[in-house]
Amino acid sequence: MKCPKCGSENIQAITKTEGKIKKRGLISALFWIVLAVCTFGIALLIPLLTGGSKGKIKSHTSFVCLNCGKEFKK
Ligand SMILES: [Zn+2]
Repeated sequence: MKCPKCGSENIQAITKTEGKIKKRGLISALFWIVLAVCTFGIALLIPLLTGGSKGKIKSHTSFVCLNCGKEFKK
């Protein structure tokens, strides 16, 4: 693989992660508070256990030329 800018083969692959975790709305926040009170806080553990299922996080690999700093994908 060569750098598209300078033609150097001094390439390093980097993995990037990006994405947003959706913020819970006010109604669902109140829902969790009520649920937490009703269950003496046990319900608060549920988001922790299921955390990460909300929102999408993508990871992709791109390459950086160590010679000129050009960043590119495959
Ligand atoms: Zn380069």
